[in-house]
Amino acid sequence: MSSEEQRHRYEFKRQLEELRSKQGQGTELISLYIPHDKRISDVVAYLRDEHGSAANIKSKQTRSNVQSALESIMARLRYYKEPPENGMIIFCGAISLGGDKQSMESIVVVPPQPITSYSYRCGSNFELEKLEDMLVDKKTFGLIVLDRREATIGTLKGKHVTPLRHLTSTVPGKQRKGGQSSHRFQQLRLIAINEFNKRIGDAANDIFLNIDRNDFQGVLIGGPTPTKEEFEKGEYLHHELQQKILGLYDIAYTDESGLNELMDSAGDTLSGLEVIKEKKLMERFMRELVAERGLAAYGEDSVRANLQMGAVEALLLSEDLRKSRLTIKCQSGNCDYTVVKSTKYRVGETPTVGERCPKCQSSLAISENVDVVEELSLIAEQMNTEVEFVSTDFEEGEQLFNAFGGIAAILRYHTGS
Ligand code: ZN
Repeated sequence: MSSEEQRHRYEFKRQLEELRSKQGQGTELISLYIPHDKRISDVVAYLRDEHGSAANIKSKQTRSNVQSALESIMARLRYYKEPPENGMIIFCGAISLGGDKQSMESIVVVPPQPITSYSYRCGSNFELEKLEDMLVDKKTFGLIVLDRREATIGTLKGKHVTPLRHLTSTVPGKQRKGGQSSHRFQQLRLIAINEFNKRIGDAANDIFLNIDRNDFQGVLIGGPTPTKEEFEKGEYLHHELQQKILGLYDIAYTDESGLNELMDSAGDTLSGLEVIKEKKLMERFMRELVAERGLAAYGEDSVRANLQMGAVEALLLSEDLRKSRLTIKCQSGNCDYTVVKSTKYRVGETPTVGERCPKCQSSLAISENVDVVEELSLIAEQMNTEVEFVSTDFEEGEQLFNAFGGIAAILRYHTGS
Protein backbone atom coordinates (compact mmCIF):
# COMPACT_ATOMS: atom_id res chain seq x y z
CA MET A 1 0.00 0.00 0.00
CA SER A 2 1.28 3.47 -0.81
CA SER A 3 1.43 6.13 1.90
CA GLU A 4 -1.60 7.81 0.40
CA GLU A 5 -3.62 4.60 0.40
CA GLN A 6 -2.60 4.03 4.00
CA ARG A 7 -3.75 7.50 5.01
CA HIS A 8 -7.10 6.98 3.28
CA ARG A 9 -7.44 3.69 5.08
CA TYR A 10 -6.73 5.41 8.39
CA GLU A 11 -9.32 8.08 7.66
CA PHE A 12 -11.89 5.50 6.65
CA LYS A 13 -11.20 3.51 9.81
CA ARG A 14 -11.63 6.57 11.98
CA GLN A 15 -14.84 7.50 10.19
CA LEU A 16 -16.20 4.05 11.01
CA GLU A 17 -15.20 4.41 14.66
CA GLU A 18 -17.06 7.67 14.79
CA LEU A 19 -20.17 6.16 13.23
CA ARG A 20 -19.96 3.23 15.62
CA SER A 21 -20.01 5.55 18.61
CA LYS A 22 -23.33 7.14 17.59
CA GLN A 23 -26.60 5.93 19.04
CA GLY A 24 -30.24 6.77 18.65
CA GLN A 25 -32.81 6.84 21.41
CA GLY A 26 -35.15 4.41 19.70
CA THR A 27 -35.05 2.38 16.50
CA GLU A 28 -34.52 5.41 14.37
CA LEU A 29 -31.06 5.53 12.83
CA ILE A 30 -31.19 4.86 9.11
CA SER A 31 -28.42 3.10 7.17
CA LEU A 32 -28.99 3.17 3.43
CA TYR A 33 -26.61 1.25 1.14
CA ILE A 34 -26.89 2.19 -2.52
CA PRO A 35 -24.85 0.27 -5.12
CA HIS A 36 -23.66 2.00 -8.28
CA ASP A 37 -26.23 0.39 -10.56
CA LYS A 38 -29.27 1.38 -8.47
CA ARG A 39 -31.37 4.17 -9.95
CA ILE A 40 -31.73 7.19 -7.67
CA SER A 41 -35.40 7.54 -8.66
CA ASP A 42 -36.05 3.98 -7.45
CA VAL A 43 -34.36 4.75 -4.15
CA VAL A 44 -36.48 7.85 -3.67
CA ALA A 45 -39.66 5.91 -4.44
CA TYR A 46 -38.63 3.32 -1.85
CA LEU A 47 -37.97 6.00 0.76
CA ARG A 48 -41.32 7.65 0.06
CA ASP A 49 -42.97 4.31 0.83
CA GLU A 50 -41.00 3.99 4.06
CA HIS A 51 -42.07 7.50 4.97
CA GLY A 52 -45.69 6.40 4.57
CA SER A 53 -45.28 3.30 6.73
CA ALA A 54 -43.41 5.27 9.36
CA ALA A 55 -46.72 7.00 10.11
CA ASN A 56 -47.69 3.81 11.97
CA ILE A 57 -44.80 4.03 14.46
CA LYS A 58 -46.36 4.31 17.92
CA SER A 59 -43.83 6.48 19.71
CA LYS A 60 -44.42 10.04 18.62
CA GLN A 61 -40.80 11.02 18.97
CA THR A 62 -39.46 8.04 17.04
CA ARG A 63 -42.03 8.55 14.29
CA SER A 64 -41.14 12.18 13.84
CA ASN A 65 -37.38 11.43 13.95
CA VAL A 66 -37.63 8.65 11.35
CA GLN A 67 -39.74 10.79 9.04
CA SER A 68 -37.39 13.77 9.33
CA ALA A 69 -34.42 11.50 8.60
CA LEU A 70 -36.16 10.11 5.50
CA GLU A 71 -36.96 13.63 4.29
CA SER A 72 -33.36 14.67 4.86
CA ILE A 73 -32.07 11.70 2.81
CA MET A 74 -34.49 12.38 -0.05
CA ALA A 75 -33.41 16.02 -0.11
CA ARG A 76 -29.80 14.93 -0.25
CA LEU A 77 -30.37 12.50 -3.10
CA ARG A 78 -31.62 15.34 -5.30
CA TYR A 79 -27.98 16.32 -5.81
CA TYR A 80 -27.12 12.99 -7.40
CA LYS A 81 -27.82 11.92 -10.98
CA GLU A 82 -26.47 8.47 -10.22
CA PRO A 83 -24.58 6.85 -7.33
CA PRO A 84 -20.74 7.15 -7.41
CA GLU A 85 -18.67 4.34 -8.92
CA ASN A 86 -18.35 2.38 -5.67
CA GLY A 87 -21.87 3.27 -4.64
CA MET A 88 -22.63 5.24 -1.47
CA ILE A 89 -24.00 4.85 2.01
CA ILE A 90 -26.13 7.44 3.73
CA PHE A 91 -26.32 7.35 7.51
CA CYS A 92 -28.97 9.59 8.95
CA GLY A 93 -30.91 10.02 12.16
CA ALA A 94 -31.32 11.75 15.50
CA ILE A 95 -28.19 11.05 17.54
CA SER A 96 -28.45 11.01 21.33
CA LEU A 97 -26.16 13.52 22.93
CA GLY A 98 -26.91 12.40 26.47
CA GLY A 99 -29.87 13.44 28.60
CA ASP A 100 -32.79 14.42 26.37
CA LYS A 101 -30.58 16.13 23.84
CA GLN A 102 -30.53 14.95 20.25
CA SER A 103 -29.12 16.21 17.01
CA MET A 104 -30.14 15.25 13.48
CA GLU A 105 -27.07 14.13 11.56
CA SER A 106 -26.61 12.98 8.01
CA ILE A 107 -23.33 11.45 6.86
CA VAL A 108 -22.49 10.24 3.36
CA VAL A 109 -19.74 7.65 3.01
CA VAL A 110 -18.15 6.67 -0.29
CA PRO A 111 -16.59 3.26 0.34
CA PRO A 112 -13.11 2.18 -0.81
CA GLN A 113 -14.59 -0.93 -2.42
CA PRO A 114 -17.84 -1.29 -4.32
CA ILE A 115 -21.08 -2.01 -2.53
CA THR A 116 -22.79 -4.96 -4.14
CA SER A 117 -26.32 -4.90 -2.79
CA TYR A 118 -28.98 -2.38 -1.89
CA SER A 119 -30.14 -2.32 1.69
CA TYR A 120 -32.21 -0.13 3.96
CA ARG A 121 -32.12 -0.57 7.69
CA CYS A 122 -33.51 1.28 10.65
CA GLY A 123 -31.96 0.53 14.06
CA SER A 124 -30.70 2.04 17.29
CA ASN A 125 -27.18 1.96 15.79
CA PHE A 126 -25.84 2.42 12.30
CA GLU A 127 -25.30 -0.74 10.28
CA LEU A 128 -21.55 -0.94 9.61
CA GLU A 129 -20.74 -4.59 9.12
CA LYS A 130 -20.27 -4.45 5.35
CA LEU A 131 -17.95 -1.45 5.67
CA GLU A 132 -15.94 -3.00 8.49
CA ASP A 133 -15.52 -6.03 6.29
CA MET A 134 -13.74 -3.86 3.72
CA LEU A 135 -10.99 -3.11 6.24
CA VAL A 136 -10.16 -6.74 6.80
CA ASP A 137 -7.26 -8.13 4.80
CA LYS A 138 -8.66 -11.49 3.73
CA LYS A 139 -5.47 -13.01 2.33
CA THR A 140 -4.97 -16.21 4.29
CA PHE A 141 -1.99 -18.55 4.66
CA GLY A 142 -2.10 -22.01 6.17
CA LEU A 143 0.55 -22.67 8.83
CA ILE A 144 1.77 -26.07 10.02
CA VAL A 145 4.56 -26.60 12.54
CA LEU A 146 5.52 -30.13 13.50
CA ASP A 147 8.09 -32.44 15.00
CA ARG A 148 7.82 -36.04 16.20
CA ARG A 149 6.02 -35.12 19.43
CA GLU A 150 3.52 -32.46 18.54
CA ALA A 151 2.06 -30.34 15.77
CA THR A 152 0.21 -27.03 15.68
CA ILE A 153 -1.95 -25.87 12.80
CA GLY A 154 -3.15 -22.34 12.32
CA THR A 155 -3.70 -19.53 9.87
CA LEU A 156 -2.18 -16.16 9.10
CA LYS A 157 -4.95 -13.83 8.02
CA GLY A 158 -4.02 -10.24 7.37
CA LYS A 159 -1.86 -9.57 10.40
CA HIS A 160 -3.33 -12.19 12.67
CA VAL A 161 -1.85 -15.56 13.48
CA THR A 162 -4.60 -17.84 14.80
CA PRO A 163 -3.72 -21.24 16.29
CA LEU A 164 -6.53 -23.66 15.45
CA ARG A 165 -5.49 -27.20 16.27
CA HIS A 166 -2.87 -28.83 18.47
CA LEU A 167 -1.98 -32.53 18.14
CA THR A 168 0.34 -34.75 20.14
CA SER A 169 1.82 -38.00 18.92
CA THR A 170 2.38 -41.47 20.34
CA VAL A 171 5.60 -41.80 18.41
CA PRO A 172 8.10 -43.50 20.75
CA GLY A 173 11.46 -41.86 21.33
CA LYS A 174 14.55 -43.16 19.59
CA GLN A 175 15.59 -45.08 22.69
CA ARG A 176 14.05 -48.55 22.59
CA LYS A 177 13.01 -50.45 25.69
CA GLY A 178 15.03 -53.46 26.72
CA GLY A 179 13.86 -56.77 25.27
CA GLN A 180 12.47 -55.29 22.03
CA SER A 181 14.28 -56.23 18.85
CA SER A 182 15.79 -53.27 17.09
CA HIS A 183 14.08 -54.15 13.82
CA ARG A 184 10.64 -54.51 15.42
CA PHE A 185 11.15 -51.23 17.28
CA GLN A 186 12.04 -49.34 14.11
CA GLN A 187 9.00 -50.77 12.35
CA LEU A 188 6.63 -49.70 15.13
CA ARG A 189 8.22 -46.31 15.18
CA LEU A 190 7.72 -45.78 11.44
CA ILE A 191 4.09 -46.87 11.68
CA ALA A 192 3.50 -44.38 14.50
CA ILE A 193 5.22 -41.60 12.52
CA ASN A 194 3.13 -42.34 9.47
CA GLU A 195 -0.05 -42.29 11.55
CA PHE A 196 0.85 -39.02 13.19
CA ASN A 197 1.60 -37.40 9.83
CA LYS A 198 -1.74 -38.64 8.54
CA ARG A 199 -3.56 -37.08 11.48
CA ILE A 200 -1.75 -33.79 10.90
CA GLY A 201 -2.63 -33.90 7.20
CA ASP A 202 -6.30 -34.65 7.91
CA ALA A 203 -6.58 -31.85 10.45
CA ALA A 204 -4.89 -29.39 8.07
CA ASN A 205 -7.13 -30.44 5.15
CA ASP A 206 -10.14 -29.93 7.35
CA ILE A 207 -9.15 -26.37 8.14
CA PHE A 208 -7.48 -25.15 4.95
CA LEU A 209 -9.98 -26.58 2.46
CA ASN A 210 -12.71 -24.62 4.20
CA ILE A 211 -11.03 -21.29 3.55
CA ASP A 212 -12.39 -19.32 0.59
CA ARG A 213 -10.26 -20.26 -2.42
CA ASN A 214 -9.92 -16.67 -3.55
CA ASP A 215 -8.37 -15.72 -0.23
CA PHE A 216 -6.20 -18.76 0.33
CA GLN A 217 -2.59 -18.08 -0.65
CA GLY A 218 -0.77 -21.28 0.26
CA VAL A 219 0.76 -23.43 2.99
CA LEU A 220 3.92 -22.81 5.03
CA ILE A 221 5.48 -25.72 6.92
CA GLY A 222 7.95 -25.40 9.78
CA GLY A 223 9.86 -27.83 11.96
CA PRO A 224 13.17 -29.64 12.32
CA THR A 225 14.87 -31.53 9.49
CA PRO A 226 14.00 -34.17 8.29
CA THR A 227 10.51 -34.23 9.89
CA LYS A 228 9.02 -31.46 7.79
CA GLU A 229 10.65 -32.77 4.55
CA GLU A 230 9.17 -36.20 5.21
CA PHE A 231 5.78 -34.65 5.77
CA GLU A 232 5.96 -32.87 2.43
CA LYS A 233 7.29 -35.87 0.47
CA GLY A 234 4.73 -38.20 2.04
CA GLU A 235 1.92 -36.11 0.48
CA TYR A 236 -0.20 -36.14 3.60
CA LEU A 237 -2.04 -33.02 2.48
CA HIS A 238 -4.95 -32.98 0.02
CA HIS A 239 -3.52 -32.75 -3.52
CA GLU A 240 -4.81 -29.19 -3.99
CA LEU A 241 -3.03 -28.07 -0.85
CA GLN A 242 0.04 -30.12 -1.68
CA GLN A 243 0.45 -27.99 -4.81
CA LYS A 244 0.18 -24.84 -2.75
CA ILE A 245 3.08 -25.53 -0.37
CA LEU A 246 5.06 -22.29 -0.48
CA GLY A 247 8.08 -23.36 1.53
CA LEU A 248 9.64 -25.37 4.35
CA TYR A 249 11.34 -23.55 7.20
CA ASP A 250 13.65 -24.59 10.03
CA ILE A 251 12.14 -23.58 13.32
CA ALA A 252 12.67 -24.62 16.94
CA TYR A 253 9.18 -24.50 18.46
CA THR A 254 6.17 -26.53 17.45
CA ASP A 255 3.61 -25.16 19.91
CA GLU A 256 1.64 -21.95 19.36
CA SER A 257 4.77 -19.83 19.51
CA GLY A 258 6.10 -21.90 16.63
CA LEU A 259 3.44 -20.39 14.37
CA ASN A 260 4.87 -16.93 15.00
CA GLU A 261 8.39 -18.24 14.53
CA LEU A 262 7.28 -19.72 11.21
CA MET A 263 5.83 -16.39 10.09
CA ASP A 264 9.13 -14.66 10.93
CA SER A 265 11.22 -17.29 9.13
CA ALA A 266 9.02 -17.13 6.07
CA GLY A 267 9.74 -13.40 5.79
CA ASP A 268 10.99 -13.55 2.21
CA THR A 269 8.03 -15.56 0.98
CA LEU A 270 5.67 -13.19 2.73
CA SER A 271 7.68 -10.03 2.04
CA GLY A 272 4.86 -8.43 0.05
CA LEU A 273 2.62 -8.60 3.06
CA GLU A 274 1.93 -5.45 5.01
CA VAL A 275 2.65 -7.05 8.39
CA ILE A 276 6.15 -8.10 7.34
CA LYS A 277 6.91 -4.60 6.08
CA GLU A 278 5.73 -3.14 9.38
CA LYS A 279 7.75 -5.64 11.39
CA LYS A 280 10.94 -4.93 9.42
CA LEU A 281 10.60 -1.17 9.85
CA MET A 282 9.93 -1.52 13.57
CA GLU A 283 12.94 -3.79 13.97
CA ARG A 284 15.09 -1.26 12.15
CA PHE A 285 13.79 1.51 14.38
CA MET A 286 14.67 -0.52 17.51
CA ARG A 287 18.17 -1.21 16.19
CA GLU A 288 18.74 2.49 15.49
CA LEU A 289 17.39 3.38 18.90
CA VAL A 290 19.95 1.33 20.81
CA ALA A 291 22.87 2.11 18.49
CA GLU A 292 25.28 4.88 19.38
CA ARG A 293 24.13 7.97 17.47
CA GLY A 294 21.42 5.78 16.00
CA LEU A 295 19.09 7.36 13.49
CA ALA A 296 15.88 7.17 15.46
CA ALA A 297 13.42 9.62 16.98
CA TYR A 298 10.13 9.22 18.79
CA GLY A 299 7.42 11.28 20.43
CA GLU A 300 5.21 13.83 18.72
CA ASP A 301 7.36 16.96 19.12
CA SER A 302 10.68 15.43 18.16
CA VAL A 303 9.22 13.60 15.18
CA ARG A 304 7.33 16.65 13.93
CA ALA A 305 10.48 18.80 14.10
CA ASN A 306 12.50 16.20 12.21
CA LEU A 307 9.74 15.78 9.64
CA GLN A 308 9.54 19.50 8.94
CA MET A 309 13.28 19.56 8.25
CA GLY A 310 12.93 16.69 5.82
CA ALA A 311 15.15 14.53 8.02
CA VAL A 312 12.77 11.59 8.32
CA GLU A 313 13.19 8.60 6.05
CA ALA A 314 10.30 6.57 7.43
CA LEU A 315 7.49 7.74 9.68
CA LEU A 316 5.94 5.03 11.85
CA LEU A 317 2.45 5.75 13.16
CA SER A 318 0.42 3.45 15.32
CA GLU A 319 -2.87 2.61 13.65
CA ASP A 320 -4.57 2.84 17.04
CA LEU A 321 -3.32 6.29 17.92
CA ARG A 322 -6.11 8.87 18.29
CA LYS A 323 -4.59 12.21 19.14
CA SER A 324 -5.73 15.79 18.61
CA ARG A 325 -3.72 18.96 18.54
CA LEU A 326 -5.89 21.65 20.03
CA THR A 327 -5.40 25.37 19.78
CA ILE A 328 -7.02 26.89 22.83
CA LYS A 329 -7.77 30.60 23.00
CA CYS A 330 -8.96 32.92 25.71
CA GLN A 331 -12.52 34.10 25.07
CA SER A 332 -12.01 37.59 26.45
CA GLY A 333 -11.81 40.27 23.74
CA ASN A 334 -8.87 42.05 25.31
CA CYS A 335 -6.63 39.09 26.06
CA ASP A 336 -4.37 37.31 23.59
CA TYR A 337 -3.70 34.10 25.56
CA THR A 338 -3.30 31.11 23.23
CA VAL A 339 -1.94 27.66 23.91
CA VAL A 340 -1.44 24.61 21.69
CA LYS A 341 -1.62 21.20 23.28
CA SER A 342 -2.00 17.61 22.15
CA THR A 343 -4.35 15.18 23.84
CA LYS A 344 -5.33 11.62 23.19
CA TYR A 345 -9.01 11.22 22.51
CA ARG A 346 -11.64 8.59 22.10
CA VAL A 347 -13.62 8.76 18.92
CA GLY A 348 -17.07 10.18 19.52
CA GLU A 349 -15.95 12.29 22.49
CA THR A 350 -15.85 16.04 22.26
CA PRO A 351 -12.66 17.50 23.71
CA THR A 352 -13.17 19.86 26.62
CA VAL A 353 -11.12 22.66 28.07
CA GLY A 354 -11.65 22.74 31.79
CA GLU A 355 -9.42 25.47 33.19
CA ARG A 356 -9.72 29.20 32.93
CA CYS A 357 -7.31 31.60 31.27
CA PRO A 358 -4.21 31.89 33.49
CA LYS A 359 -3.80 35.55 32.48
CA CYS A 360 -7.29 36.96 33.00
CA GLN A 361 -9.46 34.12 34.38
CA SER A 362 -11.92 34.31 31.47
CA SER A 363 -13.16 31.08 29.93
CA LEU A 364 -11.19 29.24 27.26
CA ALA A 365 -12.39 27.74 23.97
CA ILE A 366 -10.97 25.47 21.29
CA SER A 367 -10.31 27.45 18.13
CA GLU A 368 -8.65 24.69 16.13
CA ASN A 369 -8.68 20.89 16.35
CA VAL A 370 -6.25 18.96 14.15
CA ASP A 371 -5.88 15.19 14.05
CA VAL A 372 -2.18 14.55 14.80
CA VAL A 373 -1.91 11.39 12.72
CA GLU A 374 -3.36 13.13 9.70
CA GLU A 375 -1.22 16.21 10.22
CA LEU A 376 2.04 14.24 10.49
CA SER A 377 1.27 11.97 7.56
CA LEU A 378 0.49 14.99 5.39
CA ILE A 379 3.83 16.64 6.25
CA ALA A 380 5.50 13.32 5.46
CA GLU A 381 3.90 13.15 2.04
CA GLN A 382 5.16 16.64 1.22
CA MET A 383 8.68 15.70 2.32
CA ASN A 384 8.77 12.42 0.38
CA THR A 385 8.92 10.53 3.62
CA GLU A 386 7.68 6.97 3.64
CA VAL A 387 4.72 6.56 5.99
CA GLU A 388 3.87 3.27 7.60
CA PHE A 389 0.75 2.74 9.67
CA VAL A 390 1.69 0.08 12.17
CA SER A 391 -0.95 -2.18 13.69
CA THR A 392 -0.89 -3.31 17.32
CA ASP A 393 -1.45 -6.93 16.29
CA PHE A 394 2.18 -7.89 16.85
CA GLU A 395 4.70 -7.30 19.62
CA GLU A 396 6.76 -4.47 18.13
CA GLY A 397 3.57 -2.74 17.00
CA GLU A 398 2.23 -2.85 20.52
CA GLN A 399 5.52 -1.40 21.76
CA LEU A 400 5.20 1.50 19.33
CA PHE A 401 1.81 2.30 20.78
CA ASN A 402 2.63 1.79 24.48
CA ALA A 403 6.29 2.70 24.87
CA PHE A 404 6.81 5.32 22.13
CA GLY A 405 3.52 7.19 22.23
CA GLY A 406 2.48 5.76 18.86
CA ILE A 407 4.84 8.02 16.89
CA ALA A 408 8.37 7.12 15.79
CA ALA A 409 10.77 7.84 12.96
CA ILE A 410 13.81 6.42 11.24
CA LEU A 411 15.99 9.38 10.31
CA ARG A 412 18.06 10.21 7.24
CA TYR A 413 20.50 12.25 9.34
CA HIS A 414 20.77 13.88 12.76
CA THR A 415 19.24 17.28 13.35
CA GLY A 416 19.53 17.61 17.09
CA SER A 417 15.74 17.71 17.46
ZN1 ZN B 1 -7.31 35.67 29.00
